[in-house]
Amino acid sequence: MRGRRDIIQPDKERRVRASDTEVLIPTSAAQAVEAFGDGRGVTVFAGGTILMPEIAYGRYPAGGRTLMLERAGLDEISGDGTLKIGAMARLSMLTASGVEPLASAAGNIADIEIRAQATVGGNLCAPPGAESPRGDLQAALLAMGARVRSAGAGSEGVDSIDEFVAGAGAEPRLVLAIEVERPRRAAFLSQRRPHAHSYAVMSVACAETGDAIRVAVGGAGPRAVRLTAVERALADGSAPTQAGAKALDDVEPQDDALASAWYRRSVLPTLVTRALEQLQGG
Ligand SMILES: Cc1cc2nc3c(=O)[nH]c(=O)nc-3n(C[C@H](O)[C@H](O)[C@H](O)COP(=O)(O)OP(=O)(O)OC[C@H]3O[C@@H](n4cnc5c(N)ncnc54)[C@H](O)[C@@H]3O)c2cc1C
Repeated sequence: MRGRRDIIQPDKERRVRASDTEVLIPTSAAQAVEAFGDGRGVTVFAGGTILMPEIAYGRYPAGGRTLMLERAGLDEISGDGTLKIGAMARLSMLTASGVEPLASAAGNIADIEIRAQATVGGNLCAPPGAESPRGDLQAALLAMGARVRSAGAGSEGVDSIDEFVAGAGAEPRLVLAIEVERPRRAAFLSQRRPHAHSYAVMSVACAETGDAIRVAVGGAGPRAVRLTAVERALADGSAPTQAGAKALDDVEPQDDALASAWYRRSVLPTLVTRALEQLQGG
């Protein structure tokens, strides 16, 4: 795309060619998978809260195909024990679901307008930002042991969230849905500046599913990371403070425009300890 003029309103046509970019507007999940193909040369457009500023700054990829998911019917949240969350479910829907720690993680992102537009698929697939971390739902989904249904070259399939986050960017995937079980107990804490438009510096999510507690941090590196040393310490019976002291064993915090690596290293053990205390108190 060469700029704002190339953005067209979806109309009744399923395919519209605007200058050198083909805009695809599937009306079902099956059509979306077919249009995505192996994903090469395709830009997936969900809520657009990351992509619209890219367009405004003239950084949107020129040419290729844009796959707009708005009408693909991927926006439902269904199920009781196992929750199936369509990739186009808005962050505001996650907040309203009350399923922790996902609801708190979603409610902590940006402001009410962004949350009404931004999607869970877009958050999970958000490329790491140059100035600040993105993808705040990743830590909550890692803590919950979520599964990700996606399509791309070869096939449609389901990966654990750990595999999906670790392999992100290796090959293009179209996220269709996320499945999670409701944890027995959960906690979420984040460190941010008191401004609705600022990104969180770091966030910590913990969840007890089955007989284990999973803990993850977002914002310390380009993608969220599971804190397995903290989890092992908890399994061995350590108190929150001792377990929280292991927070830096699995992650090497980074510098960005929001905070220095030093600040993140200093804060993370306390953030983890407080999240664990919240979990144990809940
Ligand atoms: C003022 C402001 C504050 C913000 N604060 C935060 C914050 O605190 N924390 C945070 O995490 N984010 C924040 N964001 C970023 C953003 O709003 C969220 O990450 C949001 O969830 C992105 O979702 P989207 O649907 O808008 O994504 P889009 O902009 O549509 O897409 C984002 C990326 O994901 C890809 N993508 C989208 N859907 C899929 C899919 N189904 N399958 C494969 N790839 C897909 C797109 O191709 C693109 O690369 C903020 C944004 C703004 C403007």
